[in-house]
Amino acid sequence: MENNFDLVVIGAGPGGYVCAIRATQLGLKTACVESNKTLGGTCLNVGCIPSKSLLSSSEKYHKAQKEFNNLGIESSSIKLNLSKMMDNKDKSVLTLTKGVEYLLRKNKIVHLKGKGSISAKNTVTVTDHSGKKVSYKAKNIVIGTGSVPTSLPGIKIDGKIIVSSTEALSFKKVPKKLIVIGGGYIGLELSSVWKRLGSDVIVIEFLDHIIPGMDKDISTEFFKILNKQGIHFKLDTKVTGINLVKNKAVVDFTNNKSAKRERVECDKVLVAVGRKSNIGEDIIKLGIKLDNQKKIQVNKKFETSIKNIYAIGDVINKGPMLAHKAEDEGIAVAEIIAGQAGHVNYNVIPAVIYTSPEVAMVGKTEEQLKKENIKYKVGKFPFLANSRAKINSETEGFVKIIADEKTDKVLGVSMISAMAGTMIAELALAMEFGASAEDIARTCHAHPTHSEAVKEAAMAVDKRPIHF
Ligand SMILES: Cc1cc2nc3c(=O)[nH]c(=O)nc-3n(C[C@H](O)[C@H](O)[C@H](O)COP(=O)(O)OP(=O)(O)OC[C@H]3O[C@@H](n4cnc5c(N)ncnc54)[C@H](O)[C@@H]3O)c2cc1C
Repeated sequence: MENNFDLVVIGAGPGGYVCAIRATQLGLKTACVESNKTLGGTCLNVGCIPSKSLLSSSEKYHKAQKEFNNLGIESSSIKLNLSKMMDNKDKSVLTLTKGVEYLLRKNKIVHLKGKGSISAKNTVTVTDHSGKKVSYKAKNIVIGTGSVPTSLPGIKIDGKIIVSSTEALSFKKVPKKLIVIGGGYIGLELSSVWKRLGSDVIVIEFLDHIIPGMDKDISTEFFKILNKQGIHFKLDTKVTGINLVKNKAVVDFTNNKSAKRERVECDKVLVAVGRKSNIGEDIIKLGIKLDNQKKIQVNKKFETSIKNIYAIGDVINKGPMLAHKAEDEGIAVAEIIAGQAGHVNYNVIPAVIYTSPEVAMVGKTEEQLKKENIKYKVGKFPFLANSRAKINSETEGFVKIIADEKTDKVLGVSMISAMAGTMIAELALAMEFGASAEDIARTCHAHPTHSEAVKEAAMAVDKRPIHF
């Protein structure tokens, strides 16, 4: 096999495999190393894809049970077959990971199977599953090794009772009682899945609000909605210990303000307190600079502290840990290595929570703008006044557009809606083009669609919504 490459990418997650494809499009002789048996990284194997499959199936189950009757769709009994639901999820994962294999083949990217390490400058050594080592020369190396789940001090994830998101995507039985530590997007998506399938779910969050980093109005509204759905919350609360007793976990926690202590027994504990960058020994040995959170430091061109070694995705100290951010960085770094001017606009990276309703945002929150002393105006429009949302019985939530007080340029958008994850793309595009709220207000939106609420929120920035 060929042992000399223009580029070797380590990791075939959304960052790595997309980078490899773009690089070959630009004429670079490229290899991609992956230690996992299937390609696609966290996203395809234990992240975005399996979680969205379970969110979709569990939502349908929940609707069939609770909402179909109101629509005149009667069925005698709706029963959960969890193992079939899991098989369906696994089938989706397999189809998509095979799809990445096909893309690598189609683009003539050399797929190196095994664990890659940078053994010397411009050399990547791959250790395959039998322990055999082969070294490859690479003019350029891109590290895209992603991230792994993290835990709290003193709490060990055993993968059986105390689990990470990976195991919570494959429970064999619906846990009767599930405690979720962490009110971020992964914790809340999985809380929704298991609540809909029948678990009694308690979310314990250290802060006094859920979804940190999102707009406070959205966080408050989302909290109300999830509460109404029957998810219980313990906010401003610290987990102080977990003990395993027989096949159960006994979780101790203390309220940060009142110091009130509580103890709850449950079947499973999901630790969803964040992820840490996946830094190999080779990176430490080479002395590649890390930041104080142990993420690889890169400059504007995704260069690490060592020449011709680049890094992208969850492993770096830039932007949120999201698949589309990793993909865009993969494209940008391939273009930079090929001598083009690739770049990523970190001000316009949308974020979505795929619950029901969905939550989405792009750009700045009101709290950020206040902190930065930027004067702004706000337009809000509720889905209660949107005709499509009304006929679909999806009236929860609203669109909130924040525009610069003087120039009217859109600075940030947040929304809760059944269609938020899809609708946010319009706002990302608007922001990329430097649109004003007036530009959005004057753009014709099809009727009846949820998107009309975006136009109305833009009109509300200038205090002239029509339907509210
Ligand atoms: C439950 C869950 C749900 C999520 N949902 C979403 C979502 O809806 N939308 C979204 O945008 N993001 C979501 N994410 C986050 C998303 O999965 C990550 O941001 C994304 O996968 C990061 O891509 P990456 O390429 O940087 O790394 P990864 O996807 O982590 O890929 C890294 C790859 O590198 C491989 N690797 C590591 N070390 C080596 C080595 N030494 N040699 C060879 N290979 C190696 C790994 O096996 C892995 O395949 C979710 C994450 C989780 C856990």
